[in-house]
Amino acid sequence: MANIPVEITARHIHLKQSDFVKLFGKNRQLTVLKNISQPGQFASQKVLDVIGPNLTIKNVRIVGPFREKTQLEITATEARNLGINPPYHVSGQLKNAAEVVLKGPAGKLKIKAAIIPLRHLHLHFNEAKRMGLKNGQKISVMIGQKRKLTFHEIVVRSGENHKLAVHIDTDEANAAGLKSCSYGELIK
Ligand SMILES: [Zn+2]
Repeated sequence: MANIPVEITARHIHLKQSDFVKLFGKNRQLTVLKNISQPGQFASQKVLDVIGPNLTIKNVRIVGPFREKTQLEITATEARNLGINPPYHVSGQLKNAAEVVLKGPAGKLKIKAAIIPLRHLHLHFNEAKRMGLKNGQKISVMIGQKRKLTFHEIVVRSGENHKLAVHIDTDEANAAGLKSCSYGELIK
């Protein structure tokens, strides 16, 4: 039964507040463009250019609110185009993260914080319990129609502020022939 929401996550940046000030200047606000599915998270109106050794990706969206660590999440294709080789990590882990330069209206900042996010399932504690899933466990979900694909190694991330959704990146969505958000089937 296809009943798990699947959302496609495009490249984005999380910023710690001090880095935001360096890039945008003082007295600027991380203003909301629109709320996204995970409670409290929003796409901000602010964007930055990401500069790699090979090219620049312009206007990469910042996702708020501020975090403890600055982090760039991109796909494997984007990493190759930029000319960097980031590790696959769950969000928040930055071990051996790749280096890029962020460019904003007030300045540039070299960061060692580019990762390719591991595909993951967000859900609330209670829902995890109901579905018999544990935080950190890996599951499989079948997604798509004409290019139907089963994704394995989807990391379960349960918590107070998580809402049920599988997050895959744009490379993965393309591989499964998915153009917008959809539903998948959980295969434990
Ligand atoms: Zn996510």
